[in-house]
Amino acid sequence: MNRMKDVGEFGLIERIQKKIGVIRHSTVLKGIGDDCAAVSLKKNEVQLMTSDILVDGVDFLSKKQKPIEIGKKLVNVNVSDIAAMGGVPQYALLNLSLPSATQWKWVNSFLDGVVKALKEQSIMLVGGDVSSSKEISGSLSLMGNVSKNKCIYRNGAKKGDLIFVTGLLGGSILGKHLTFSPRIKEVKKLLSSFTPTAMIDVSDGLLQDLGHITKQSRVGAAIFSDWIPVSKDAVTLSKKSRKKPIEHALTDGEDFELLFTASPKVLSKIPNLIGKIPVTCIGEVVDVKKGINVFPSPVDTRKIKISKKGYNHF
Ligand code: ADP
Ligand code: MG
Repeated sequence: MNRMKDVGEFGLIERIQKKIGVIRHSTVLKGIGDDCAAVSLKKNEVQLMTSDILVDGVDFLSKKQKPIEIGKKLVNVNVSDIAAMGGVPQYALLNLSLPSATQWKWVNSFLDGVVKALKEQSIMLVGGDVSSSKEISGSLSLMGNVSKNKCIYRNGAKKGDLIFVTGLLGGSILGKHLTFSPRIKEVKKLLSSFTPTAMIDVSDGLLQDLGHITKQSRVGAAIFSDWIPVSKDAVTLSKKSRKKPIEHALTDGEDFELLFTASPKVLSKIPNLIGKIPVTCIGEVVDVKKGINVFPSPVDTRKIKISKKGYNHF
């Protein structure tokens, strides 16, 4: 366990979490471990905080992709985390680290992307920091808010709940990973008619992100592959990748759709469509002992083996 590749992305986060210990303070509702941190400074309101880094060569390719799209993505990956808690984004800090040889033209266009995405969500950029480095990297921290009774964590799923996902899944590498729209409008619409028991955004692959919900909620899940809304890009990609479209839908990262659980009692209140975005039931929450399994359908109980769950940075 000497190197980061042995520790792994989630292992690193766990080690940081251990060093910090559990924060016992009445204002901290959620520290490390969810899509956002949640602190409560006002009585019925929760302040949400989240941060994401994009590094050249790892999270984007400055020589291949448009800087304006990379700038938008830096904002939108954070907006997606605020949406996943049920909130609305408000304030941002932008940190940039650039090689001194970077062209201003590139930086200017990147900043235009950042500003455009901020404007779309009426987010105020109130500060940040600049440094130099070997590779371009940008990080954005975003603060937002949500009323206390509408803040959705990863840990509330209950046995018997249904599992839903917005949009279509898989093959985001063909374009959606840069051009996606964070589901802010959609989450507002959903929360106006019912309250999900748990929610996360799909950033590292459906099965992996579902794993965060099941682990924190101490439940298992049965997913039905015939019910999964597979994107056209997943089909296109499968022709080159030798994987099935459904595997792409279940394991590809960066779909930035919402994955949530809800009691079957509120089923009639869950829309099938929000604007053009489908909301699809893909399975159900089961006992923790059963773990996460994929079946073709509720009546076909042959387990489908999936080799990899999702994305890990190391
Ligand atoms: P997401 O994919 O939703 O952005 P991550 O997997 O990046 O979530 O992070 C999971 C949790 O770990 C979050 O609560 C996040 O704040 C926390 N986390 C990630 N990196 C660090 C870090 N370097 N220090 C402290 N907490 C971290
Ligand atoms: Mg997230």
